[in-house]
Formats: sequence, structure tokens, C-alpha cells
Amino acid sequence: MTCRPSKWSSVFGTVLTLSVVIWRSDVMVLTPWLAPIIWNGTYNINILNELFHLRRVRIGLTVFVIRKYKIFIKTLLQTAERFFMAGHKVHYYVFTDDVKAIPNITLKEGRHLVILNISGYRRWQDITMRRMQLIRDYISQKLIDEVDYLVCLDADLKFRDDVGVEILSDVFGVIHPGFFSKSRDSFTNERRNYSAGYIPKDEGDFYYTGCFFGGTVEEVYKLTDFCHNAMMEDKAKNIEALWHDESYLNKYFLYHKPTKLLSPEYAWNDYYGSPVVVKRKRLVHVPKDYKKVRD
Ligand code: UDP
Repeated sequence: MTCRPSKWSSVFGTVLTLSVVIWRSDVMVLTPWLAPIIWNGTYNINILNELFHLRRVRIGLTVFVIRKYKIFIKTLLQTAERFFMAGHKVHYYVFTDDVKAIPNITLKEGRHLVILNISGYRRWQDITMRRMQLIRDYISQKLIDEVDYLVCLDADLKFRDDVGVEILSDVFGVIHPGFFSKSRDSFTNERRNYSAGYIPKDEGDFYYTGCFFGGTVEEVYKLTDFCHNAMMEDKAKNIEALWHDESYLNKYFLYHKPTKLLSPEYAWNDYYGSPVVVKRKRLVHVPKDYKKVRD
């Protein structure tokens, strides 16, 4: 008898060969609440692409470039055209205080650029935190009818490798590259118990970066609404959580667990070198001179 590789006849007509077991034994791939942690080698992108194509999924990407941060937008969009959600319908939503400064990027078929004029805030802390309110409000005004999933990114990032539908889930967060191998007591959560961002020392599952989160539009609405309200609660007390929107995001994820986590491959910073477990650096921070860009 001939020994053949096992075959899986899918509901959508394609026959896929399951010749390899998809797993990683060197990293954590499942949370205690059974949410997958996405590392290179833990999924089959062909199967996922077929599933998401069948659903004709529409993906939105939000990014804010206020004041000096406009210098980052060209690289982010150009690299996204190469690596982000290749073959899927994408809407980029760029929020800016200067529409004319946004470069004209050639987009592939099925991809659109929407530029939204907003007035910036004076303090950089307010610019970063108020993104939650602006995303929330724009979801209810427009995005709820335009896209199925929303991916929210910082501006000072660039794609260096594929980021596709493997990231999509009801609500997802990215493990901060500085903390993926660290214990809970080193997490830089807000520790003042009178802040709405407070997380006790003995709580917290992972430390999530504020530079990348997302989910379905409905779930991102809930997340941004929570973070904005927490920020306003603190503002009324004249305080601000330690790491601004990132602290409120970590608070949200503590009590509303993400349904998928992305490994630090998805928010890498070359400052952390090249640990052997990080096989692909998909989205990386562009180094910035803090004094110059936040001036
Ligand atoms: N941002 C902006 N203009 C500013 C400050 C911040 O557009 O003057 C936006 C931009 O999208 C940026 C994000 O807010 O990436 C978060 O700020 P930053 O990158 O400085 O935060 P970090 O991750 O370095 O703490």
C-alpha cells in the first residue's frame, strides 16, 4: 500500500495537503484563556486567505500624523502597500492637521486612501491619547459601514515583512517587544490606585504595546470608548496614566481579554536586537529623535 500525505478537502473546494504540523515549541502559542499567540510558523496563510476572501473582508488601517509626525507617513504607506493584507480590500484612514502634506501614493487595486483633516492638540500626550476618542467617533460616523476590521497603528512604524489576515480576530493586541520574556512584576503598568489605568502588581497577563491593536469595528469601538473614558476620568482628577493610551489599553485588555495576541514580530524594535525566537520582524519602529518630533 502506498503511504500518502493526509489530505483535507475543504468546504470551498480546494484540496490542501497537511504535510506539516504547524506549531512552535520554543515559544508560548496559547494564552491560559485559549487565545492563540501568533508567531511565525503557527498558521497556514493560504487557508486563512481563502477563508477571509470568501467573506470578502474589508480592512481599515488608522494612523495619525499630527505636526512633525508627517515625516513618517510616506514610508508607512509605501511599505504597507507591499506587505499589509496583500490581495485584500484595504482602506487607509490618515488623520492629519495638514492634508496637503500627505504624499500621493500609488495604491494597488481594491485599496483606498482617505485623508481626514483634524485639528491637533498642543501637547504630544494629548495627541496620542485623543486618538482613542477620534477613532471611536469616526467608527460610529463612518467606519461601521465601510470596513469589517480595524487595525490601529502608530505612525513611526514600517512594514518589513508580511502582515496578513492571520492577525484578524474579534479583538487583538500585540505583546510589547521589551516584555515578552519578562515577568509580570516588571510590566510598566499604572500603579497608582486612584488612576483609571491602575493595575495591581499581582495582576496583568502580558504587557501590550500601544502602537498596534485592532479587531472588528464593533470591538474596536468598545475598546476606544473604554480608553477614552478612563483618560477623561483621570483628566478630571488632573492626572494622566504613566504611559498614556498604552496604560489604559493594558487596563482594558486585563478585564476584556484579547481573542488573539500577536507576538512581538508585529511591533519589533531593533533596539532589542535579534532574539532567536523572533524569526521575522514584520512591523518595526522607525528610530526617531523624540525632542525633534515632539517639539
Ligand atoms: N502623534 C502625532 N503627533 C505628535 C505626537 C504623536 O501624530 O506630535 C501620533 C503618531 O501617530 C505617533 C503616536 O501618536 O506614532 C504615538 O506617539 P509616539 O510615537 O510619540 O509614542 P511612543 O510610542 O514613542 O511612546
